[in-house]
Amino acid sequence: QKVQLAAAREERILVLVRLRPLSDQEIVANEVADWECINDSTILYRNTLREGSTFPSAYTFDRVFRGDCSTKQVYKEGAKEIALSVVNGINCEYASIFAYGQTSSGKTYTMNGITEYTVADIFDYINRHEERAFVLKFSAIEIYNEAIRDLLTSDNTQLRLRDDPERGTIVEKVTEEPLKDWDHLKELLAICEAQRRIGETSLNERSSRSHQIIRLTIESSAREFLGKENSTSLAASVNFIDLAGSERASQALSTGARLKEGCHINRSLLTLSTVVRKLSKGRQGHINYRDSKLTRLLQPCLGGNARTAIICTLSPARSHVEQTRNTLLFACCAK
Ligand code: ADP
Ligand code: MG
Repeated sequence: QKVQLAAAREERILVLVRLRPLSDQEIVANEVADWECINDSTILYRNTLREGSTFPSAYTFDRVFRGDCSTKQVYKEGAKEIALSVVNGINCEYASIFAYGQTSSGKTYTMNGITEYTVADIFDYINRHEERAFVLKFSAIEIYNEAIRDLLTSDNTQLRLRDDPERGTIVEKVTEEPLKDWDHLKELLAICEAQRRIGETSLNERSSRSHQIIRLTIESSAREFLGKENSTSLAASVNFIDLAGSERASQALSTGARLKEGCHINRSLLTLSTVVRKLSKGRQGHINYRDSKLTRLLQPCLGGNARTAIICTLSPARSHVEQTRNTLLFACCAK
């Protein structure tokens, strides 16, 4: 099992699946859990009412996490290696961890925890490497309806993407906050959450339609050269992408007619699916990164020697089976 996981990590996209437990409300509503992780890599659909039905019931991935696994375990066994691969600035320049799944499947729960564990480990690394001077910066944006907004300011201005000859595609004028410590991170995450809720008419309304991208940028230079002309600094970044609810993509795909009714089609999510599908096939054909804000911004993070993990979050509830299957199909495409 360990060897297999190590091998999987060499591939460009690591696909992880996390099943959440039934919520208290679901239990009260007599929901039934139909999905079960039978080992570290296989998740099984067991619905005795649908025995003999034609769709596949077992799905295998790099790693699946059961409902009783903690986020710390998901981080340690799934995301840590990738998230920290950027820290020394040698292994890779870009790492990304995505959360993909329907609304209420646990994306935000998972991503916030993973961001916190990563930051704690980065500070730990910084403290152990006093020979280098580090600056860790935090930025957070939301992509909603193909419009980019800064989540660290209450100002609603739309931010623009710009192609910078040295830094690639960047978000113009985005707030980059030097991160002081772990408590500071908690404050910033709370600000982002509050900003993301503005304009929400019902619970999860806005976050189900928008992507949140948190970017940590780590710059470092050797102390002995600080301020000198020949000082070289290393820069790398890790992205935590809490995607819009995946039900938006399947809705858009299945009901072209709804377009006319003003149903919002999540272009970024669709383009991302296409990009991921093509990448997993060894980058065949032309990839249209410029088709959406999300893929345009993340282009450098999705190819080359960048590291990527996708955590697909699932609800075990019987009533969510269609969305759960859609998420697993996306996960299968990515692996
Ligand atoms: P999403 O961001 O996908 O819409 P959330 O992360 O907001 O979903 O999760 C929905 C609810 O389920 C939240 O109340 C969250 O605390 C809870 N939850 C999600 N995943 C887990 C888990 N693995 N264990 C316990 N509770 C969870
Ligand atoms: Mg969420």
